[in-house]
Amino acid sequence: MSSYMEDITQQIAAYKTEIAAFRPSGEAALEAFRVRFLGSKGILKELFAGMKTVAPEQRKDFGLVLNELKQLAEEQYHNGREQLQDRPGESGGREADHTLPAEPQRLGARHPISLVRSRIISIFEKIGFSIAEGPEIEDDWHNFSALNMPENHPARDMQDTFYVAKAPDWVLRTHTSSVQVRVMEQGKLPIRIICPGRVFRNETISARAHCFFHQVEGLYIDENVSFADLKQTLYYFVQEMFGEESRVRFRPSYFPFTEPSAEMDISCLICGGKGCSVCKQTGWVEILGCGMVHPRLLENCGIDSRRYTGFAFGMGIERITMLKYQIRDLRLFSENDVRFLKQFEGAV
Ligand SMILES: [Zn+2]
Repeated sequence: MSSYMEDITQQIAAYKTEIAAFRPSGEAALEAFRVRFLGSKGILKELFAGMKTVAPEQRKDFGLVLNELKQLAEEQYHNGREQLQDRPGESGGREADHTLPAEPQRLGARHPISLVRSRIISIFEKIGFSIAEGPEIEDDWHNFSALNMPENHPARDMQDTFYVAKAPDWVLRTHTSSVQVRVMEQGKLPIRIICPGRVFRNETISARAHCFFHQVEGLYIDENVSFADLKQTLYYFVQEMFGEESRVRFRPSYFPFTEPSAEMDISCLICGGKGCSVCKQTGWVEILGCGMVHPRLLENCGIDSRRYTGFAFGMGIERITMLKYQIRDLRLFSENDVRFLKQFEGAV
């Protein structure tokens, strides 16, 4: 081996140790390192230039050694750069600029369903209704049978839901009426409750239907409760929710758990009753179903139906929200699209 090769091999080993141990104390030290090893007149440039003095049979190995050294120097330079960026403000590092505007703290908005749910609750609380809640997984009795929907009752078809495979008697509740049954079974009278909650139906998802949605149902049972009480309570609710100029109308309907039953419409919020596309030119929009509690329901829950009467009503929170904020597609509520949700930042 020529003396040049011996010298240079030792020299390279020394450079290697120096490079591996390098930790920049600041920008200036890092720059000095770059110039010393990687600069256009730096050590590596010089070493590569020396290749031509190396015997041809050793050139390949020598080249590999030099490339390794160059890679190490580059790596150390990048590591040093990262270290300095991680600790701005330290000697020679980039000073933190305290005059820069802060990153904005983004506040979320309440979901429109939550907004309307709280509004409905506070309206009914003012007239003495309290909140009752129950499980989302129900047994057949509380969801169907106790509500006058025995097995094979056609009304069950309209409320097809999801069954728990391991326990076929359990279903995801199709309405919050199951909570009413649970409260009635406790037998503490009078009862004046609203039951807000999530419910489920086996429906094809579209702009107007979803496999889950939210309801608020109400129940009032006492002596001498009449349909007039029902009308007045719901009229009060509509005026509080949609404004004093809103009018209501009742249309006869059928539900297995109430008799008589009605559906309630309110005067269209868009056209005020003149007729538009939202109300399909009728001037009215349906918002809820209601009726006098069927005596058999009271008996099912151990309440004397000759002494007590009551009314019940149920509405979809999505439906009320869509009317209140003029939202055309039910799917928007569960898509988590920030562009949609941001529109409710100022809503109360
Ligand atoms: Zn209209």
